[in-house]
Amino acid sequence: MSRVWNFSAGPAALPLPVLERAQRELLDWSGSGASVMEQSHRGKRFAAMAAQVEADLRELMRIPANYAVLFEQGGATQHFAQIPMNLAREGDSADYIVTGHWSEKAASEAAPYVRVNVAATSKADNYLRMPARDTWKLDPAASYVHIATNETIHGVEFQDIPDVGDVPLVADMSSDILSGPIDISRFGLIYAGAQKNIGPSGLVLMIVRRDLLERQGRPMAKIFRYAEHAAHDSMLNTPNTWGWYLAGLTFQWLKENGGLEAMAERNRAKATLLYDTIDGSGGFYRNPIDPPVRSRMNLPFTLHDSALDASFLQESEAAGLLALKGHKALGGMRASLYNAVPLEAVQVLVAFMRDFARRHG
Ligand code: PMP
Repeated sequence: MSRVWNFSAGPAALPLPVLERAQRELLDWSGSGASVMEQSHRGKRFAAMAAQVEADLRELMRIPANYAVLFEQGGATQHFAQIPMNLAREGDSADYIVTGHWSEKAASEAAPYVRVNVAATSKADNYLRMPARDTWKLDPAASYVHIATNETIHGVEFQDIPDVGDVPLVADMSSDILSGPIDISRFGLIYAGAQKNIGPSGLVLMIVRRDLLERQGRPMAKIFRYAEHAAHDSMLNTPNTWGWYLAGLTFQWLKENGGLEAMAERNRAKATLLYDTIDGSGGFYRNPIDPPVRSRMNLPFTLHDSALDASFLQESEAAGLLALKGHKALGGMRASLYNAVPLEAVQVLVAFMRDFARRHG
């Protein structure tokens, strides 16, 4: 078998035991004689599975009973627009904290549906640090405050959940959900595209405080209304059955591997090893981000001489290290270290990086 060490930012590596189990169950799922993709979401088997997936997630993330869990379709980008449609009435405003590419996009996609107030931004600092909490210009009358807990491209991550008072906090957690325990009760709504820490793309996990489902929002078709999705157990129309099933396998894998506390410890060790390698390279490799807010999931770095980029990518790929090319907005390299990337992969990567620096330094 020729599996690579996969550092893709997303769609990203899935846990090998999850893929192996999906492979075993592909032709005959749960004794049904058909794959999970080939049967009705209204059937007993699928309903039982969906209930188990939700129960496993609630246990893993300690989701309080006053929060609904939704398995939405589309991508996080779609919900950039759908969230304001649901949470804000015509003429309402919302506060956006802009800390990188994705929160900036969330703000711009919300603009047709809510008066967007950029309450804080680190754009002038090229998103290398977080805007200090005491500089945020929050509006107590805002319908919600939006943050991206982790910026997948810029590599900055909130280390603590910011206090925003009584206004509901809405968080795009696409690239750091399930990477460690969090206090759900601090949030009004959490959403995450599945293709990093959960499963395949096309599925969006949403955790929403039930009182927010009672908001009228703006006039819209039922298919856009989260309250309708909650009332129909995320089966208002045909859901992404395959994604839902794989998410369930990932949740079981997380439970079998010590849950989110164990993930947090592993993720910390992986990120520390790579940052220490970068910082200890005498300037050969660089990550310019303010150390206290460096992401544990997405680690962008540059080589001291960009003329070496092509050789770095070519040699790393030949060594079985996949998808280290940085996002085109920043150039350079990026290693994404989601839950499914084992410590061993990072050990192989840093050994390669040290060797490359020795040969090209
Ligand atoms: N938010 C974040 C933090 C992301 O990393 C991404 C995708 N990389 C998105 C939103 C957009 O996700 P999608 O392409 O599934 O809409």
